[in-house]
Amino acid sequence: MTAVAGAATPSRSASGSALAPNYAPLPVTLVAGEGAWVTDDAGRRHLDLLAGYSALNFGHRHPALVAAAHAQLDRLTLTSRAFDHDLLEPFARALAGLVGPLVAPGRDALVLPMNTGAEAVETAIKAARKWGYEVKGVPADRATVVVAHGNFHGRTTTIVSFSDDPDARDGFGPFTPGFRAVPFGDAAALRAAIDETTVAVLLEPVQGEHGVVVPPADYLPSVRAACDEADVLLVADEIQSGLGRTGRTLACETWGVRPDLVTLGKALGGGILPVSAVVGRADVLGVLTAGTHGSTFGGNALACAVGLAVVDLLSPGDVQAAAAERGRELGTWLDALVADGLLTGYRRLGLWAGLDVPHGTGRAACEAMLREGVLAKDTHGRTLRVAPPLTITPDDLAEALARTARALRSLG
Ligand SMILES: *Cc1c(COP(=O)(O)O)cnc(C)c1O
Repeated sequence: MTAVAGAATPSRSASGSALAPNYAPLPVTLVAGEGAWVTDDAGRRHLDLLAGYSALNFGHRHPALVAAAHAQLDRLTLTSRAFDHDLLEPFARALAGLVGPLVAPGRDALVLPMNTGAEAVETAIKAARKWGYEVKGVPADRATVVVAHGNFHGRTTTIVSFSDDPDARDGFGPFTPGFRAVPFGDAAALRAAIDETTVAVLLEPVQGEHGVVVPPADYLPSVRAACDEADVLLVADEIQSGLGRTGRTLACETWGVRPDLVTLGKALGGGILPVSAVVGRADVLGVLTAGTHGSTFGGNALACAVGLAVVDLLSPGDVQAAAAERGRELGTWLDALVADGLLTGYRRLGLWAGLDVPHGTGRAACEAMLREGVLAKDTHGRTLRVAPPLTITPDDLAEALARTARALRSLG
């Protein structure tokens, strides 16, 4: 910045940073990444057990994804949706081919591309409301959506309106009406919250930000049945749980449940750029006619090139199988950590776990892990989340968990 005499200095926070203080990152500055490894500005290598909250399911700079992005950068990057481009339909077909059979039983699936996860959730809420008014016959502006306590669906004003995390909510009202929250995992409470104004139930099949909370086995099947009985859409937010994390393409498959709409994001962009989508029933997404919803960047050519390469990586099923296999290895390690008293407990599905530490905070545990060269992120209180790239090798996973054990022992 050039200093100009007499010009007002831009205001800076107490730390001297020009960044708004809406994050408190661990004290590490990364300069490079490859696979499950990252390098910091002091040249130290760390194993990445957060993987960008699952945005890096395929690791840092996966060669096939980087190649797809490079090739597309040299050809066409953005047209806006005012014009079609040659990868838009292929991307939609590929994603519908991968995810369509897992949603919308017996009907064709459509894809609506957006950018961030929060936009996909907003899109699903808008589609569900419009379907409610036009198809279900809910009186104008009366639609309700049932959600779960402890949810995390993003950061827009509407989405934080139905969060119960005071940090996410306080100071951001007035809030969007039309949401009812019930305890996660309690199908009877959910059923009781549904009435004739209810257009959708919106849930994470596994609550990621809340600490990788896995519901009881009969929960999602009961939710599906309640939705069917009351003609209510089941919207599964699989932005973090989807695309391989749980050892399956969708977490919902674990319980044999097919949502009507599913939101995808994070890993859909291959760790390269934001790509999100809603995939689901054609008769629901079909209510969004030209001009009723959109996005300048949604479905851009670069995003479609990367998204197509992501679908290619997931289509054979080996990434999901590797995640399930590494997940079992993770479970064995975590059992040992509990037996040693280094954890009070954990929850796990696939290669995704929430670990409860016996003393201190999740944050302190993450700082100890950083000292051992392994990066993770706390969620709430005494919980930290482990979600390595699905492509991590067995040796690297073992190394990461040995480092984690050393870090936890250093806290005792
Ligand atoms: C991360 C996340 C979102 C929000 O995605 P952004 O890309 O950060 O807007 C929504 N839902 C779930 C379940 C998430 O994990």
